[in-house]
Formats: sequence, structure tokens, C-alpha cells
Amino acid sequence: MTIQWFPGHMAKAKREVTEKLKLIDIVFELVDARIPISSRNPLIDEIVANKPRIILLNKADMADPDVTKQWIDFFAAQQIDAIAIDSQSGTGVKQMVAVAKEKLRPKFEKMIAKGIKRPRAMRALIVGIPNVGKSTLINRLAGKHIAKTGDTPGVTKAQQWIKVGKELELLDTPGILWPKFEDEEVGYKLATTGAIKDTILNLQDVAVYALRFLSTHYPDRLKERYALADIPEDIVQLFDDIGKKRGCLAAGGVVDYDKVAELVLRDIRTEKLGRLSFDRL
Ligand code: GDP
Repeated sequence: MTIQWFPGHMAKAKREVTEKLKLIDIVFELVDARIPISSRNPLIDEIVANKPRIILLNKADMADPDVTKQWIDFFAAQQIDAIAIDSQSGTGVKQMVAVAKEKLRPKFEKMIAKGIKRPRAMRALIVGIPNVGKSTLINRLAGKHIAKTGDTPGVTKAQQWIKVGKELELLDTPGILWPKFEDEEVGYKLATTGAIKDTILNLQDVAVYALRFLSTHYPDRLKERYALADIPEDIVQLFDDIGKKRGCLAAGGVVDYDKVAELVLRDIRTEKLGRLSFDRL
């Protein structure tokens, strides 16, 4: 992911998504189940406006299942359809198509009432911030590898539809929107989960955030992973303890804080600390 979101890019991304919206019946808004709020685009409600929408909490396989359930209930309380999915394995994908069909039923019944005998398939667009799994989901729905994983911003080509069974057609290029950068904590969460590049924020700062979060919300997993008898209050001490335990040392045997930061973030992203959720109700 190499996109730099300057105001011009944001305006262009918004324009492109708005154009695509004209072609479709329903939006699948992909978010990261570990950070279902922080991984939403700040203008998504304004951009999507009146189109029917389903929120897909993707990478649910990596998120804390209890917290994911709370988020689904949270969205349901606001009459927003939200479904936990895993685009890699396909879990939840059938439910997503079923819910979309149900949501569009009134629209298609109207078409039938107007005398259209065989209504066309539902047309859908997948939108989301980079790295949230849009291409993976498109590939999964298409059943073969047609969508390129990774992003190619600025590359426009003719719109193509991917047929998903008889009932659904998907635009082959997703709508790519930017994440919320203004809020520092959101930035740390995006970086911790790997949604934004490690060079955007200071790696040690991100690891400080992540370790503080784990100390509060997942202390036992932190202790177990790094064989800590207890978790020190002092964050530098925690870096030292982990660094010594895991051999993250520089010349002279002093702890190398960059190495500790890299180790901790890699462990989080590869689920060495189990399934974690960083946005909490
Ligand atoms: P895009 O930028 O939104 O198109 O995201 P990609 O489809 O390229 O996915 C970004 C990364 O997330 C890739 O490494 C995918 O393999 C991974 N990924 C996508 N969906 C899932 C999922 O449901 N679970 C897990 N564990 N990884 C996923």
C-alpha cells in the first residue's frame, strides 16, 4: 500500500466512488473487524448517502469474537446491517449475499409490479480503505483470481461486472476510500493492524500504543507470550523486559527498542497474541 492521501487524492477518490455508485443497487462497506470504526472512511455516510448498504466486518478470523459480536449488536441497534466475514476462507459470504437480497427485495418487487418479468441481478460495489480485504473478497466472490490484490490507484479502465451466481453482479474494481487520519489514536490502531504503512508513524510510538493497549485489555496474553511474571507500569521497563526475554539486543547487550517494536507488531499482526480487537464499545 503506497497511497499518500493528499487532499487532491481524497477528492478524486470520492469522485470515483460517487461515479460508481450511480451504477449499483447496494454497497458492501468493508471494514476491519479488529477496528470496525477506525477503519471506516470519515465521509462514508455522506458519500454513500441513500444507497442501501451492508457493513462487512472482514478479517473476523483475526478479531476477538466477543467484541465482534458486540459491534454487530451495536450496528443492529442503529438499524444497520453488519455481518462478520472472513474473505480468505469465505465464512459469512453466503449470509452477506442473502442479506443483500433481502434488503433489495422491495426494489425488485416494484420492478416486477411494473411488468418487468425477469428482474436483473442485484448490482453491488465493494468500498473500503486500502488493505481491508476488498480484492480478496472480490476474488472469493468471483471464485477465481480476477481482481488483483493490492491497490492500483489512478488506474482507470472500463467497468466490468463479475457475476456471482444468478442474483448478484459485482463491479470488478472496488471503491477505494481513505481512512481517518486526523485522530492520533485511530492512526495508531491503523498502524498496529497493518492498515497503514509502518513508515507513516514512528514504529516505537506505535508499539508503545499497542503494548499499553494489550496491558489494559489482554494482560494475560501479553504475559504468556513474553514469559513475563507481571507487567511493569513503566513502558520503558516493559520494552526492556520483552527485549531481554526475546534477545532484541544491540551492541553492548543493551535492548534495541526498534527491534522490540518490530517484534511486538509482527506478533500482533500474525496472531501470535491470539485474536485481538482494538476498537472497543
Ligand atoms: P485491499 O487493499 O482492500 O484490496 O486488500 P487485499 O484484498 O489486498 O487484502 C489485504 C491483506 O489482507 C492481504 O494480505 C489479504 O490476504 C488479507 N486479508 C483479506 N481478507 C482477509 C480475511 O478475511 N482474513 C485474513 N486473516 N486476512 C485477510
